[in-house]
Amino acid sequence: MARIVKKFGGTSVGDMDRIRNVATRVAKAVADGDEVAVVVSAMSGVTNQLIGYCRDAATFHDAREYDTVVAAGEQITAGLLAMVLQDLGVPARSFMGWQIPLKTDGIHGAARIEDIDASALEACFAEGRVAVVAGFQGLADDNRITTLGRGGSDTSAVAIAAVVSADRCDIYTDVDGVYTTDPRIVPKARKLDKITYEEMLEMASLGAKVLQTRSVALAMRYGVRTQVLSSFEDLPGTLVVGEEEIVEQEIVSGIAYSRGEAKVTVVGLDDTPGKVSGVFSPLAKNNVNVDMIVQSASEDGTTTDVSFTVPEDDLQKTVAVLEDNRTSLGYKDLVYNGNVVKVSVVGLGMRSHAGVASRMFDTLAEKGINIQVISTSEIKVSVVIDAEYSELAVRALHTAYGLDRQD
Ligand code: ADP
Ligand code: ASP
Ligand code: MG
Repeated sequence: MARIVKKFGGTSVGDMDRIRNVATRVAKAVADGDEVAVVVSAMSGVTNQLIGYCRDAATFHDAREYDTVVAAGEQITAGLLAMVLQDLGVPARSFMGWQIPLKTDGIHGAARIEDIDASALEACFAEGRVAVVAGFQGLADDNRITTLGRGGSDTSAVAIAAVVSADRCDIYTDVDGVYTTDPRIVPKARKLDKITYEEMLEMASLGAKVLQTRSVALAMRYGVRTQVLSSFEDLPGTLVVGEEEIVEQEIVSGIAYSRGEAKVTVVGLDDTPGKVSGVFSPLAKNNVNVDMIVQSASEDGTTTDVSFTVPEDDLQKTVAVLEDNRTSLGYKDLVYNGNVVKVSVVGLGMRSHAGVASRMFDTLAEKGINIQVISTSEIKVSVVIDAEYSELAVRALHTAYGLDRQD
């Protein structure tokens, strides 16, 4: 007997037939003697629709009411799945985040889990009942509903698996595992049997939305054995594991890309102490999350240009903040472009192998793709390029690092 938390994403619960398919899987696990708790997402498309309603209601809406609205999608799926399970003769009941309760901080729209009361879930296990938990939702100290950010049901599932000491957290989705890159843009992408927490964390934070970044961080911190697998086919999935479980480490394990980036260049700043800080302090005060930064000096050394990337959603705010500070900063021009993509190569093997970055630059050069910004860390190299070349770049890099499936 194993204790398993199973999470089903939007496509997996996208209509009533799919909810029945999920129920059948859960019923089978219960019949096999496993203790099962389920976490569900909203039906695919529903969260986007709810966000659309919020935007329509008011351009600058109350974030607490936004959470009240967008959390509703998961409520529907949890209730429906519990009904279908009951219909199959499997005792089940739904739980909203607040009924658990799953306590979070008060950052509406991107709340972080602070505490989960496991008692209701333990009671369900003891009674042989399946708890069907609405993912993505939490409760703040002031009793308001919160949500965990897009893709947050993954995080609900891993966090619940941690507090009930589950043997495994199974994340069922519309692909049968974690691939070397998004299989929807590179048909030759290869499924990985295993990937380390560290690499998955980088892949997720660099754009591979198969797992929400926060869920991987939690899995790593609490050692939750997490598996990504298909809800449509009975195929082995991908296990996210500690480094010690990987026998032979690839130098590069995967390529990630993220479209939601924008690049900003502050042109012609005086090259004197305090100017760079003058650019970034007001952005930090306005909660703009700056990612990659490059600075280049002019030939005569008197002025400097600073380029950096921000989430595309923050571009308007970034420009407004820099325009507000134009007089004190004294720059010559402000250039910005939302039409860029960040492409990254990720692999633990980079720690001990040289030449990974240069192969990336060579490959992009061969395709005539101009690199606008570069950043590196111990296990990744990221570049910003024109969005038009994103698929070409990802495919070319996938081939260059020997990741293509051979068949
Ligand atoms: P769910 O609704 O089940 O949470 P998501 O759409 O959030 O599913 O995540 C699954 C999607 O992640 C896949 O359809 C795939 O296009 C995308 N994806 C991006 N990078 C990868 C990758 N490296 N491996 C697998 N899937 C990936
Ligand atoms: N329904 C939410 C979203 O679409 C949460 C999730 O699916 O994980 O982002
Ligand atoms: Mg998801």
